[in-house]
Amino acid sequence: MNDRQSNLQLHQSEMAAGAVELHSAPLTLQVEPTSVCNLECGICGRQYWDATKNPPGEMPAWVIAKIEPLLPRLVELVVGGYAEATLAKSLWPLLEAARKAECPTRLITNGTRLDLAMCRRLVEAGLAHLVVSIDGAREPTLRKSRGIGLEQTLGGFDRMSDAARELGVAAPRFQISFTATRSNVAELAELVDLAADRGVTEISAGHLKIYSKELDCESLFHDPAGARQHLKRAQERAAARGVVLSVPGFEKRNADCMMPFRMLFVKWNGKVLGCCSAVFENDKFNFPVGDLSEKSLLEIWNDAAILSYRRAQRRQGEYPAQCVNCAFRHDTYEAHLRLL
Ligand code: SF4
Ligand code: SF4
Repeated sequence: MNDRQSNLQLHQSEMAAGAVELHSAPLTLQVEPTSVCNLECGICGRQYWDATKNPPGEMPAWVIAKIEPLLPRLVELVVGGYAEATLAKSLWPLLEAARKAECPTRLITNGTRLDLAMCRRLVEAGLAHLVVSIDGAREPTLRKSRGIGLEQTLGGFDRMSDAARELGVAAPRFQISFTATRSNVAELAELVDLAADRGVTEISAGHLKIYSKELDCESLFHDPAGARQHLKRAQERAAARGVVLSVPGFEKRNADCMMPFRMLFVKWNGKVLGCCSAVFENDKFNFPVGDLSEKSLLEIWNDAAILSYRRAQRRQGEYPAQCVNCAFRHDTYEAHLRLL
């Protein structure tokens, strides 16, 4: 049994025993190699965050060195945040370290930089899972929301397949992340077909987070009945095309968020968060748990803030303030109202 399998087995036995302090390491790390993006999408928190508190920057070598020892134990390294990871030089040493540790990697990207050369490089780096954010199926919708064309993003899947074929290896698993709004939800069913034609096996559709008052009118919560019709149509297309489609709900779920039992988010500057819910510095939903300039990832993993969440999930205490009405626990308008 290798380190990854042992860690997973220990994690499962600790979870079954109801442990709060975990001796197993995180199963996943999500890392943002840069805080820079090449787009200015209107729905993105970047347009509304405090720019002085969220300066541009790229992950330095010392942060990567702090991540490296954990890679042999991870089930997955997820690369991407509220930025475009392929802009970062540090993407490549991160992927190389993961490849050496035989750690599967997932890249989240806006897809705009997936030319053939980039695709070849990603395939050579052993990328296992590619997630492209695409919020529409028609040219005018994407041009309006992201300022880019449909083929520019969807075409990345074709080029990844071409690169994998050239190199004689299997293509990564393909997924689309879709932020549903009142302007684009009618296009989700069409996107299912376009995606299936390109070998995409999974689409995850989620609610818009309302970062500013101007975004409010785009929330599906203002017309749940209309949204449900479009989501149902998309689910029918997904079933017909063999695509796994997850769609957002409209209920107060009181769902169990398991992120603090499974993962840590490492920002480009070495700051560590307990989840991927809010990666902006001026967001009150931010869940800071440590800093790699002061502690190791394993020390941070059982930090007091994370332990308080785990205790609450085990019904042994109160949830931290940012978790009480979090969008990862409740499909409600209030939980998605995240004004910056
Ligand atoms: S591509 Fe992603 S990170 Fe960049 S502005 Fe758009 S939504 Fe934000
Ligand atoms: S409930 Fe929300 S804020 Fe709390 S850990 Fe989960 S995602 Fe993060």
